[in-house]
Amino acid sequence: MTANPTRVLVLNSGSSSVKYQLLDMAESRRLAVGLVERIGEETSRLVHTPLATGGARRVHEGPMADHDAALKAVAAELAADGLGLDSPQLAAIGHRVVHGGLKFTEPTVIDEVVLKEIERLVPVAPLHNPANITGIRTAQALRPDLPQIAVFDTAFHTTMPEYASRYAIDVATADAHRIRRYGFHGTSHAYVSRRTARLLGKDPSEVNVIVLHLGNGASASAVAGGRCVDTSMGLTPLEGLVMGTRSGDIDPAVTFHLKRVAGMSADEIDELLNKRSGLVGLCGDNDMREIRRRIDEGDKAAALAFDIYIHRLKKYLGAYTAVLGRVDAVAFTAGVGENAAPVRAAAMAGLEGLGMAVDADRNAVRSDEPRLISPEGARVAVAVVPTDEELEIAQQTYALVTA
Ligand code: AMP
Repeated sequence: MTANPTRVLVLNSGSSSVKYQLLDMAESRRLAVGLVERIGEETSRLVHTPLATGGARRVHEGPMADHDAALKAVAAELAADGLGLDSPQLAAIGHRVVHGGLKFTEPTVIDEVVLKEIERLVPVAPLHNPANITGIRTAQALRPDLPQIAVFDTAFHTTMPEYASRYAIDVATADAHRIRRYGFHGTSHAYVSRRTARLLGKDPSEVNVIVLHLGNGASASAVAGGRCVDTSMGLTPLEGLVMGTRSGDIDPAVTFHLKRVAGMSADEIDELLNKRSGLVGLCGDNDMREIRRRIDEGDKAAALAFDIYIHRLKKYLGAYTAVLGRVDAVAFTAGVGENAAPVRAAAMAGLEGLGMAVDADRNAVRSDEPRLISPEGARVAVAVVPTDEELEIAQQTYALVTA
């Protein structure tokens, strides 16, 4: 008798990269993790870590023409560890899909109709959905018999009330072009808000949490009793916080101004706001470690970039405190949120009136575990909660195929 398959492969396909993890859900452990970067270039690079065998990290460099070649290389690495995609223990492949529009509010078994709908959303997610579709088609070709599940970045935010998701523009125009606030990083906001509730020893339904996902992309969300009621990203991941290379909130008239006065095209403005703005636009660096190092050396541009970044964070903390009415916890997550103690300290400085503060000693602790950094007895629990989007995707995928 063959035991039920318990493994899930998670694929997160970006425009020129694929991140992957193979997990065993019965044993709650990761068997392999890896990343392929610079797909389509001469200098593609695959880094594979076979956790199950305890073997050393393997790095392969050399051209990989497309996602098909990259996934085949990943499959070969897994096979070399006895974890090949042909394994009967593989239950499903879970795919991160960035934009699910309004239709996809739950993890979804992918068929041709679902793929068509994900394709239909390409105009609102031109950078992300095409890569996700390529990853899905390639994985389908490798294992046509296996359930392929889409887990959408937007799904967690579909509970936002219409007064939070609708822009105040002409309704007919907005609806004709599906213009509204969708929100992103939903898998992370869902995971972190639930994990924060657990850290407090509560059920998610009992707590109101502001989640600050601060990575290279950054977003905030207001989660009331486990449901998202507002989030900072909008139609695209450009709105909201100051990010590594994206401006976040800006007067929309800046775009007309750039067109009329600077003669820039829509594509040029798009590139400016998405790739040459945010921290990189302000000071030339988007890595918070480098920015902090420059500030320590007295660099004024880095200090101003940091202050603008923090000011925007405070505005969202205040706004979401008002939206939620009662805040039980603020959770910092992702590369900056998990690692940059000075960002957490600066974002919370002066917010005692909102019941928010950090304890300097607790904030200085480095750890991979969820932890509280607020002072004992604080009205609002301030926490650092490492995000785990791959685990969340694997759990949602496995729950669907074993339901
Ligand atoms: P993510 O998009 O979540 O992978 O976050 C990437 C960003 O996290 C980088 O661009 C850095 O700005 C930031 N980051 C990573 N490690 C650290 C660290 N030790 N200290 C400060 N910032 C960090």
